[in-house]
Amino acid sequence: MAALLAAVLVVVVGPSTSAGADSTQLYVYQVSAPTDAVAQRLFDEGFDVLEDRTGTDLFVLGDAATSRQLRAAGFQPTIIQRLKPTGWAPPSTRLVPNSAAPAVAPIDETYYGGYHTVVAQYAHLTSVATAHPDLATVVDYGDSYLKTTNAATGYDLKAICITHIQAGDCALNPNVAKPRFVLMAQIHAREIVTGDIAWRFIDYLAGGYGSVAAVTNLLNSTEVWVIPTVNPDGVDEVQQGGNSPYLQRKNRHGTGCANPPTGSNQLGVDLNRNTVTHWDTTGTTNGRCTQTYPGSSADSEPETKAIEGLFRQLFADQRGPADGAAAPVTTRGAMITMHSYAGMNLFPWGWSNTHTGNDGALRSIAAHMSQLNGYDYGQPGEILYNASGTSDDWSYGELGIASFTIEMASCGSFIPAHSCTATDYNNNLPVLMYVAGIAGAPYQQ
Ligand SMILES: [Zn+2]
Repeated sequence: MAALLAAVLVVVVGPSTSAGADSTQLYVYQVSAPTDAVAQRLFDEGFDVLEDRTGTDLFVLGDAATSRQLRAAGFQPTIIQRLKPTGWAPPSTRLVPNSAAPAVAPIDETYYGGYHTVVAQYAHLTSVATAHPDLATVVDYGDSYLKTTNAATGYDLKAICITHIQAGDCALNPNVAKPRFVLMAQIHAREIVTGDIAWRFIDYLAGGYGSVAAVTNLLNSTEVWVIPTVNPDGVDEVQQGGNSPYLQRKNRHGTGCANPPTGSNQLGVDLNRNTVTHWDTTGTTNGRCTQTYPGSSADSEPETKAIEGLFRQLFADQRGPADGAAAPVTTRGAMITMHSYAGMNLFPWGWSNTHTGNDGALRSIAAHMSQLNGYDYGQPGEILYNASGTSDDWSYGELGIASFTIEMASCGSFIPAHSCTATDYNNNLPVLMYVAGIAGAPYQQ
């Protein structure tokens, strides 16, 4: 039966996978990068290096020309995946907030088989806070780049604070009674499973208080802050691809790049390369249209400034400025920023293989995360590649809080079928609950 089914599938799938050459066809190339220096050269040459690694091989997204460029640069690329052609379906309507007469209720707006739009994410935050005023409050912590340039475009930047609210809880002040855990999603817009994991986590907490003991205990003791779309301008661009989402990674600051964006040519600044922490020293590219362009200066982007400002309102600075300084064992606070699709648990430093002053505790926490979700763990330079100016290096480096990146497995794709979000969510809910649960004293684990 299985063999018969397989034979039928081959017949069905065969024609579409043998489609003719297409200049807009995208490929994933596997490239050997046996040393840090070779890995860095991929960034220096401007290639779109994906957040994935197998052994000492890295992966590059590009079109047919990218293969020639890689070979010219001395690499030996192998095609391992053929993505959907970029002759995409007409973009969906740009879904700006407050648009008149939306086709569906804002909270129901989806694209690509169920992924929530920015408007839906924000309507969801409002809906949860309205339904659970004892548990949740929404904070507008700034404006996206496009909104700073024109109030009619772009988005507010929004977070939700979830806890069993007592007097003083969720205040924008680091001196509060409860420790805090922050979960960030979609700083890289095209890593779309992460936004929906944030959505599901919010519902799990708001719906579980009083009925799920672990949730009740967590929300009685801890503030959980969730930012479902750190980069809403970028997510808006992704969703305009409709059933073929655009692979926009960065924010939307800039001009003169491919429009609509492609996987290898797009305007914007990589918000996960833009922080001041060893800014533009490794894992970055110089071309404005490349994927890891770090911006014209450290902290140049409104989204970066706004989220750093929010973090400074939520957490006291608990670590000295030297790279090797340890945050004390009394440090409070933890954060996770979600990316895709390497299937890894990462911790600082990302700018170097140098260990932090809290390496023992961070590594121990990451090891436990890996027991829960089955991913590899390590510093980025140990199992992925070095990258500077990242948000978790910044939150650890500036404030001392325990900071982690989870690279969701995401079914091996930036844009998997929506059903994949359930798999990633189920695999990682225990990790989110675990790290939230140790926010009161992460370095005493
Ligand atoms: Zn990412």
